[in-house]
Amino acid sequence: MSGIYRHADQGLKRLYRYVESQFQNTALTAQWDELNVLRTVSDLYQRIDDFSREEYMTIARKAYADARDEILALLPEKEGSFTDLDTLFLINIYTRYDRKTEYRYDHEWERKRDRLAESMMAVIQAQDAAKISNTNEIRVALQRALNLMERQMRQMADTMTDEARNQAFADAGVDQVMWNTQRDAGVCPGCQARDGQIYPLYAVPGKHRGCRCYLTPARFGLTP
Ligand SMILES: [Zn+2]
Repeated sequence: MSGIYRHADQGLKRLYRYVESQFQNTALTAQWDELNVLRTVSDLYQRIDDFSREEYMTIARKAYADARDEILALLPEKEGSFTDLDTLFLINIYTRYDRKTEYRYDHEWERKRDRLAESMMAVIQAQDAAKISNTNEIRVALQRALNLMERQMRQMADTMTDEARNQAFADAGVDQVMWNTQRDAGVCPGCQARDGQIYPLYAVPGKHRGCRCYLTPARFGLTP
Protein backbone atom coordinates (compact mmCIF):
# COMPACT_ATOMS: atom_id res chain seq x y z
CA MET A 1 0.00 0.00 0.00
CA SER A 2 1.62 3.22 -1.14
CA GLY A 3 1.00 6.73 0.17
CA ILE A 4 1.09 8.37 -3.27
CA TYR A 5 -2.57 9.39 -2.97
CA ARG A 6 -2.52 10.52 0.67
CA HIS A 7 -2.64 14.21 -0.34
CA ALA A 8 -5.63 13.43 -2.54
CA ASP A 9 -7.35 11.71 0.37
CA GLN A 10 -6.62 14.58 2.75
CA GLY A 11 -7.81 17.14 0.21
CA LEU A 12 -10.97 15.12 -0.45
CA LYS A 13 -11.77 15.01 3.25
CA ARG A 14 -11.68 18.83 3.36
CA LEU A 15 -13.60 19.06 0.11
CA TYR A 16 -16.36 16.70 1.21
CA ARG A 17 -16.72 18.57 4.49
CA TYR A 18 -17.09 21.87 2.66
CA VAL A 19 -19.40 20.52 -0.02
CA GLU A 20 -21.67 18.78 2.45
CA SER A 21 -21.99 21.91 4.60
CA GLN A 22 -22.73 24.03 1.51
CA PHE A 23 -25.44 21.65 0.34
CA GLN A 24 -26.89 21.49 3.83
CA ASN A 25 -26.98 25.29 4.17
CA THR A 26 -28.58 25.61 0.77
CA ALA A 27 -31.21 22.99 1.62
CA LEU A 28 -32.08 24.85 4.83
CA THR A 29 -31.97 28.46 3.71
CA ALA A 30 -32.72 28.63 -0.02
CA GLN A 31 -35.96 30.00 -1.42
CA TRP A 32 -37.07 27.13 -3.61
CA ASP A 33 -39.29 28.90 -6.07
CA GLU A 34 -39.11 29.48 -9.82
CA LEU A 35 -37.60 32.92 -9.44
CA ASN A 36 -34.64 31.86 -7.33
CA VAL A 37 -33.85 28.29 -8.25
CA LEU A 38 -31.38 28.97 -11.05
CA ARG A 39 -29.42 31.52 -9.07
CA THR A 40 -29.42 29.38 -5.94
CA VAL A 41 -27.98 26.37 -7.77
CA SER A 42 -25.48 28.36 -9.78
CA ASP A 43 -24.24 30.25 -6.66
CA LEU A 44 -23.85 26.93 -4.85
CA TYR A 45 -21.80 25.42 -7.66
CA GLN A 46 -19.72 28.57 -8.05
CA ARG A 47 -18.74 28.64 -4.35
CA ILE A 48 -17.80 24.96 -4.44
CA ASP A 49 -15.88 25.37 -7.69
CA ASP A 50 -13.82 28.23 -6.22
CA PHE A 51 -13.07 26.25 -3.09
CA SER A 52 -12.21 23.04 -4.93
CA ARG A 53 -9.77 24.71 -7.33
CA GLU A 54 -7.67 25.76 -4.33
CA GLU A 55 -7.79 22.26 -2.94
CA TYR A 56 -6.79 20.66 -6.25
CA MET A 57 -3.81 23.01 -6.53
CA THR A 58 -2.72 21.99 -3.02
CA ILE A 59 -3.00 18.31 -3.93
CA ALA A 60 -1.02 18.85 -7.14
CA ARG A 61 1.75 20.85 -5.45
CA LYS A 62 2.20 18.23 -2.74
CA ALA A 63 2.16 15.35 -5.23
CA TYR A 64 4.71 17.22 -7.37
CA ALA A 65 6.93 17.73 -4.30
CA ASP A 66 6.75 13.99 -3.50
CA ALA A 67 7.81 13.08 -7.03
CA ARG A 68 10.61 15.65 -6.89
CA ASP A 69 11.91 14.10 -3.66
CA GLU A 70 11.77 10.61 -5.17
CA ILE A 71 13.81 11.80 -8.15
CA LEU A 72 16.33 13.70 -6.01
CA ALA A 73 16.87 10.59 -3.89
CA LEU A 74 18.02 8.86 -7.09
CA LEU A 75 19.78 11.78 -8.78
CA PRO A 76 20.58 14.75 -6.52
CA GLU A 77 21.98 16.67 -9.50
CA LYS A 78 18.44 17.11 -10.84
CA GLU A 79 17.85 19.75 -8.15
CA GLY A 80 17.56 22.67 -10.57
CA SER A 81 15.08 20.95 -12.92
CA PHE A 82 11.90 21.68 -11.04
CA THR A 83 9.43 24.56 -11.21
CA ASP A 84 6.29 25.64 -9.37
CA LEU A 85 2.95 24.46 -10.65
CA ASP A 86 0.71 27.39 -11.56
CA THR A 87 -3.01 27.62 -12.26
CA LEU A 88 -2.40 27.04 -15.97
CA PHE A 89 -1.59 23.47 -15.00
CA LEU A 90 -5.03 23.20 -13.39
CA ILE A 91 -6.84 24.85 -16.30
CA ASN A 92 -5.22 22.44 -18.74
CA ILE A 93 -6.67 19.52 -16.82
CA TYR A 94 -10.09 21.18 -16.44
CA THR A 95 -10.43 21.77 -20.15
CA ARG A 96 -8.85 18.64 -21.56
CA TYR A 97 -10.98 15.88 -22.96
CA ASP A 98 -10.11 12.65 -21.17
CA ARG A 99 -10.44 9.70 -23.52
CA LYS A 100 -10.79 7.22 -20.65
CA THR A 101 -13.48 8.98 -18.62
CA GLU A 102 -14.90 10.56 -21.81
CA TYR A 103 -15.42 13.96 -20.32
CA ARG A 104 -13.93 17.38 -19.83
CA TYR A 105 -13.99 18.27 -16.16
CA ASP A 106 -15.47 21.73 -16.67
CA HIS A 107 -18.17 20.51 -19.09
CA GLU A 108 -19.13 17.71 -16.75
CA TRP A 109 -19.34 20.16 -13.86
CA GLU A 110 -21.68 22.47 -15.79
CA ARG A 111 -23.78 19.56 -16.96
CA LYS A 112 -24.30 18.37 -13.38
CA ARG A 113 -25.13 21.89 -12.20
CA ASP A 114 -27.70 22.39 -14.98
CA ARG A 115 -29.23 19.01 -14.31
CA LEU A 116 -29.72 19.85 -10.63
CA ALA A 117 -31.31 23.17 -11.56
CA GLU A 118 -33.66 21.37 -13.96
CA SER A 119 -34.71 18.74 -11.49
CA MET A 120 -35.29 21.41 -8.82
CA MET A 121 -37.42 23.35 -11.26
CA ALA A 122 -39.42 20.20 -12.01
CA VAL A 123 -39.98 19.58 -8.30
CA ILE A 124 -41.13 23.15 -7.78
CA GLN A 125 -43.44 23.15 -10.78
CA ALA A 126 -45.02 19.86 -9.77
CA GLN A 127 -45.82 21.26 -6.38
CA ASP A 128 -49.35 21.97 -5.39
CA ALA A 129 -49.29 25.68 -4.61
CA ALA A 130 -51.47 25.01 -1.59
CA LYS A 131 -48.96 22.76 0.16
CA ILE A 132 -45.46 24.08 -0.04
CA SER A 133 -43.83 21.18 1.75
CA ASN A 134 -42.08 19.20 -0.92
CA THR A 135 -38.93 19.18 1.12
CA ASN A 136 -38.41 15.45 0.78
CA GLU A 137 -38.19 15.60 -3.01
CA ILE A 138 -35.85 18.55 -2.76
CA ARG A 139 -33.67 16.66 -0.32
CA VAL A 140 -33.53 13.64 -2.59
CA ALA A 141 -32.52 15.75 -5.62
CA LEU A 142 -29.82 17.52 -3.59
CA GLN A 143 -28.48 14.25 -2.22
CA ARG A 144 -28.22 12.77 -5.70
CA ALA A 145 -26.36 15.84 -6.97
CA LEU A 146 -24.05 15.73 -3.95
CA ASN A 147 -23.16 12.07 -4.54
CA LEU A 148 -22.38 12.71 -8.21
CA MET A 149 -20.25 15.72 -7.30
CA GLU A 150 -18.22 13.77 -4.78
CA ARG A 151 -17.57 11.02 -7.29
CA GLN A 152 -16.32 13.56 -9.82
CA MET A 153 -14.11 15.15 -7.14
CA ARG A 154 -12.57 11.83 -6.23
CA GLN A 155 -11.65 11.21 -9.85
CA MET A 156 -10.22 14.71 -10.14
CA ALA A 157 -8.11 14.45 -6.98
CA ASP A 158 -6.46 11.29 -8.32
CA THR A 159 -6.00 12.86 -11.75
CA MET A 160 -4.28 15.88 -10.16
CA THR A 161 -1.92 13.51 -8.37
CA ASP A 162 -1.06 11.57 -11.55
CA GLU A 163 -0.66 14.68 -13.69
CA ALA A 164 1.52 16.44 -11.11
CA ARG A 165 3.81 13.42 -10.91
CA ASN A 166 4.02 13.24 -14.70
CA GLN A 167 4.92 16.93 -14.79
CA ALA A 168 7.75 16.38 -12.28
CA PHE A 169 9.00 13.42 -14.33
CA ALA A 170 8.95 15.47 -17.53
CA ASP A 171 10.72 18.40 -15.81
CA ALA A 172 13.51 16.10 -14.63
CA GLY A 173 13.91 14.41 -18.02
CA VAL A 174 12.49 11.04 -17.01
CA ASP A 175 11.74 9.24 -20.26
CA GLN A 176 10.67 5.81 -19.01
CA VAL A 177 8.46 4.97 -16.06
CA MET A 178 7.40 1.84 -14.19
CA TRP A 179 3.79 0.93 -13.55
CA ASN A 180 3.05 0.05 -9.91
CA THR A 181 -0.15 -1.35 -8.48
CA GLN A 182 -1.08 -0.72 -4.86
CA ARG A 183 -0.22 -4.39 -4.20
CA ASP A 184 -3.35 -4.98 -2.17
CA ALA A 185 -6.50 -7.05 -2.56
CA GLY A 186 -8.21 -4.34 -4.64
CA VAL A 187 -5.94 -4.65 -7.70
CA CYS A 188 -7.81 -5.79 -10.82
CA PRO A 189 -6.32 -8.48 -13.13
CA GLY A 190 -5.70 -5.97 -15.93
CA CYS A 191 -3.58 -3.77 -13.68
CA GLN A 192 -1.91 -6.78 -12.08
CA ALA A 193 -0.53 -7.74 -15.50
CA ARG A 194 1.04 -4.27 -15.82
CA ASP A 195 2.72 -4.30 -12.40
CA GLY A 196 6.45 -3.70 -12.90
CA GLN A 197 6.13 -3.01 -16.66
CA ILE A 198 8.21 -0.19 -18.13
CA TYR A 199 6.66 2.36 -20.51
CA PRO A 200 7.88 5.49 -22.28
CA LEU A 201 6.57 8.47 -20.27
CA TYR A 202 4.47 9.64 -23.22
CA ALA A 203 3.00 6.23 -24.02
CA VAL A 204 1.68 5.04 -20.68
CA PRO A 205 -1.62 3.14 -20.97
CA GLY A 206 -4.68 4.98 -19.66
CA LYS A 207 -6.11 4.15 -16.25
CA HIS A 208 -9.60 2.84 -15.67
CA ARG A 209 -11.95 4.81 -13.45
CA GLY A 210 -10.95 4.56 -9.79
CA CYS A 211 -7.55 2.98 -10.59
CA ARG A 212 -4.89 3.92 -8.07
CA CYS A 213 -1.90 2.45 -9.83
CA TYR A 214 0.97 4.94 -10.08
CA LEU A 215 4.21 5.50 -11.96
CA THR A 216 7.77 5.72 -10.68
CA PRO A 217 10.85 6.88 -12.61
CA ALA A 218 12.58 4.03 -14.45
CA ARG A 219 15.04 5.83 -16.77
CA PHE A 220 16.32 9.33 -17.35
CA GLY A 221 16.88 10.63 -20.84
CA LEU A 222 20.34 11.40 -22.18
CA THR A 223 19.70 15.11 -22.54
CA PRO A 224 20.57 17.15 -19.43
ZN1 LIG B 1 -4.88 0.01 -11.56
